[in-house]
Amino acid sequence: MPRVVTRNHKVILIAGGAGFVGSNLCRRLIDEGHEIICVDNFQTGNRCNIAPFLQHRHFRLIQHDICDPLDISGPVDEIYNMACAASPDRYQEGPVHTCKTCFLGALNLLELARRKNARILQSSTSEVYGDPEISLQDESYRGCVNTCGPRACYDEGKRVAETLFWEYGAHNGVETRIARIFNTYGPNMDPADGRVVSNFIVQALKGEDLTVYGTGLQTRSFCYVSDLVDGLIRLMASDEKMPVNLGNPGEFTMLELAEKVVKMVRSRAGVTFRPLPQDDPRQRKPNITRAKTILGWSPKVNLDEGLAATIEWYRERLAADQEAEAPAGQ
Ligand code: NAD
Ligand code: UDP
Repeated sequence: MPRVVTRNHKVILIAGGAGFVGSNLCRRLIDEGHEIICVDNFQTGNRCNIAPFLQHRHFRLIQHDICDPLDISGPVDEIYNMACAASPDRYQEGPVHTCKTCFLGALNLLELARRKNARILQSSTSEVYGDPEISLQDESYRGCVNTCGPRACYDEGKRVAETLFWEYGAHNGVETRIARIFNTYGPNMDPADGRVVSNFIVQALKGEDLTVYGTGLQTRSFCYVSDLVDGLIRLMASDEKMPVNLGNPGEFTMLELAEKVVKMVRSRAGVTFRPLPQDDPRQRKPNITRAKTILGWSPKVNLDEGLAATIEWYRERLAADQEAEAPAGQ
């Protein structure tokens, strides 16, 4: 039976709420007047990201690893599972833990959703398409994933998590939603996260050469985080149980991205080429027809606008870090 909420705000659990996307989602949902329970083990999350909410009467932080079962006192209306390191560097540091986060973490949250009669959304990924053989990936494409490689812990973990969500949705009476998220960037992504947008911006701001992996001709499609958050909330509110792509279809090579960042930062940095990591997808571009039709959603922020806002955020963040590191009295 769907939950009928009689309060004028919802109680929303965000697993991974201290991370990049999770903290942006926390902010938006708090601003909308909801009560937030943030569950995070701080593997890649940062207290800075949630510092503004810690004293808020509608914000509760629970430090917990979702690989372990969890119980929550009181009602829970919605659960967003945003908990999983998303940077290849970070999820490959502990590949077995990444598998456990994807599988056991999803299972524990689905069980919580079942007990609480809560609706639950999974942050899946374009990585379920692996190294796609087709340009413009739509949700019917079944992907090309290497099961025995450095990215497999994440890619296969996310695939089995989708299966769990589908099973609980189809046969266990849980209201499930699955977002296949494409590369997203913006404020609150850790400067040391290792993903391309944060690396390039931090390098350009520090006047260091930008590290381009491989030839730099591989492509990605970059979505600004406010657009993604909007899509996630719309998907949660929809009736759609099958996976929906959320991403910005603008497609860029890594060399094009590097050039843009250097220009926008007005940096003198050049580029330096590094080996292409194994199984690095060669192309990625979402078909968002379903998101448009079902959710009435499409991204509003183009790459130049999003990069400008993101660069400003990193500029301030690096200055604050530098100030904090400076010896007292300087
Ligand atoms: P992130 O690394 O910034 O955030 C992940 C958060 O989850 C962190 O706060 C981390 O501490 C927490 N976490 C990790 N494992 C946990 C565990 N076992 N128990 C509790 N907390 C745990 O990553 P992000 O970019 O914010 O990604 C959020 C979600 O969106 C992830 O599930 C990721 O797979 C998915 N996603 C993100 C992107 C993207 O481009 N940002 C693309 C596709 C999918
Ligand atoms: N990349 C790069 N330089 C970096 C970090 C990443 O050229 O400093 C490349 C990486 O090889 C990949 C693309 O940028 O082709 C996107 O990498 P990211 O780690 O951001 O995300 P993902 O590979 O998971 O899409």
